[in-house]
Amino acid sequence: MGQLLDGKAVSKILKEEIREEIAQWKEKGVQPKLAVILVGDDPASVVYARSKQKVCEGIGMAFELFTMPGSTPEAEILATIEKLNNDQNVHGIMIELPLPKGIRKETVMAAVRPDKDVDGVHPINRGYILSGEEGLFPATPQSCIELLLRSGVEIAGKHVVIVGRGETVGKPLVFLILKHNATVTICHSKTPDLGAFTRQADILIAAVGRAKLIKKDMVKAGAIVVDAGINEIPGGICGDVDFEAVQDVAELISPVPGGVGSLTTALIMRNVLKGIVLQGGVR
Ligand code: NAP
Repeated sequence: MGQLLDGKAVSKILKEEIREEIAQWKEKGVQPKLAVILVGDDPASVVYARSKQKVCEGIGMAFELFTMPGSTPEAEILATIEKLNNDQNVHGIMIELPLPKGIRKETVMAAVRPDKDVDGVHPINRGYILSGEEGLFPATPQSCIELLLRSGVEIAGKHVVIVGRGETVGKPLVFLILKHNATVTICHSKTPDLGAFTRQADILIAAVGRAKLIKKDMVKAGAIVVDAGINEIPGGICGDVDFEAVQDVAELISPVPGGVGSLTTALIMRNVLKGIVLQGGVR
């Protein structure tokens, strides 16, 4: 029976490290601050924004929420972003998604200063992932890597198979995990005989959005399985991996909830701190 990759435990350690780093910035006269823009009243986005506020309060990071009605013109959203871009006391800016119909997501994302783009969605940050330069990268792919490393898993030299090439998780993860010297295979909906690829994985990462897609017979005995999927099911959420069955063959496996998703908010906060450095540190 595989052991758990415990996202909650790793998240606790990360938050403690971030809290200490924030205290050090405060000693240097910098109060780290995250600004979140929430347009419209998407219920999940409201919950996510509030949960970031709660985490900020717990670790000593300043937080400001900018709420705007769903009817707000795009120009007004862009003006708010510009104000925050130029505000020296704001170190990270995050736009909650989805944006209301009629607002061009790409235009809004590209308006955030790359060194304040804590969601890692600006085209410049996407380019830095490819080139290997320092930038701000999306939280969920970073969560997969942190969960592995902090659980004592060696990534270098391993065959990592990623299922899913989405812009949020799979695609950025390919390049972040390559940096750790893994050999990477990426699968998607057009991959014929998915199991033939997943069975080769030393480390299998699922980032698909299909409940329990990865079955026991698709996993090599002793593999390490990371499940980034979040799927709504009656009474809660589940991942892309058939957890109970796959736990029988995996050496380590991340649960949903309690795995990858537990780290993402902390990693957004870590991006805020990285942003301070990219912005030039103490002014
Ligand atoms: P996405 O953009 O919808 O991408 C899904 C990917 O899965 C696509 O590449 C798609 O292939 C592939 N796929 C779909 N059906 C497949 C199948 N039957 N076999 C193999 N591949 C298949 O999704 P995403 O935004 O990257 O998110 C992926 C998952 O991560 C979702 O469950 C999402 O909820 C979750 N997520 C979790 C967090 C977190 O905090 N834990 C954060 C963000 C997202 P094609 O490219 O060929 O269409």
